[in-house]
Amino acid sequence: KSKKAGRNSVRFFDPSLESAMKQHATLEDDIRQALDQGQFVLHYQGQFNSRDKLTGAEVLVRWQHPVQGMMSPALFIPFAEETGLILPLGNWVLETACKLLASWEKIPRMNKLVLAVNVSALQFRQSDFIETVVNIIHKSGANPQRLKLELTESMLIENLDDIIHKMLSIKELGVGFSLDDFGTGFSSLSFLKRLPLDQLKIDQSFIKDVHSDPNGAAIAKTIVALGKSLGLNVIAEGVETVEQREFLSNAGCHAYQGYLFSRPVALTEFEELARSN
Ligand code: C2E
Ligand code: MG
Ligand code: MG
Ligand code: MG
Repeated sequence: KSKKAGRNSVRFFDPSLESAMKQHATLEDDIRQALDQGQFVLHYQGQFNSRDKLTGAEVLVRWQHPVQGMMSPALFIPFAEETGLILPLGNWVLETACKLLASWEKIPRMNKLVLAVNVSALQFRQSDFIETVVNIIHKSGANPQRLKLELTESMLIENLDDIIHKMLSIKELGVGFSLDDFGTGFSSLSFLKRLPLDQLKIDQSFIKDVHSDPNGAAIAKTIVALGKSLGLNVIAEGVETVEQREFLSNAGCHAYQGYLFSRPVALTEFEELARSN
């Protein structure tokens, strides 16, 4: 190939890029097919209050891949977001969680549990997001009080008025909002003050080093204090050790999620956990 072809044309002949593009095309088809064939499954990770009582779970999607086995969402969610496939996938997650809530509605212990569902930026940005949530809740028969939506900071920066309108409309139903991975994204205190949130979820990266790094400890403590002073429930994610839990408890943290309490587990295992807790 002639060198004169220039920089721009080079990439079309780069075999590694070509195969990367093919892989992407395949992944897109695979996700579509996985949706049709029911290869996605949900796992449930318990959330606990300061008295170690199970109050609900975060819903975490996995891909039961026919060849690769159980696949982490970290491997396919970013791609599903890029291609827009997160819309049907996200709807499926929300629908499945809402149907589960409805199925628990008459079971004494289960009907107090709250399910937290992750919402991606693209989903939340849809102009019909409110309608979608309302429809899924109504069709499923779920009690909206038992549903919590997890948003991340990065999706809450532009168009604050529209964001607030969406959140308030959905909150009117009784649905709660949690700010996931707090501290890792855009965090202006003035915007935090304006958002109609119910919960602040401290990112696990701040929990990791509360005992090894004095700055990390200071930050974790400050986030708990900040959330509390804004009148929000504060939950820590990624709590792995008794020492971390002690530290957070002393800081006044309200709720916990992490391997110390429970790993994300399949539905039957979660229901067992709920019955025994
Ligand atoms: P996330 O929402 O921050 O979820 C918490 C992640 O931390 C989960 O990873 C969970 O398994 C992991 N984790 C929980 N406790 C511990 C712990 O004690 N130690 C450590 N090291 N990790 C812990 P997972 O399940 O791999 O999910 C990764 C991310 O994928 C989630 O992060 C979330 O952003 C995204 N995700 C998962 N399910 C969905 C979904 O249905 N929709 C969307 N849009 N995103 C999802
Ligand atoms: Mg989350
Ligand atoms: Mg999180
Ligand atoms: Mg996280």
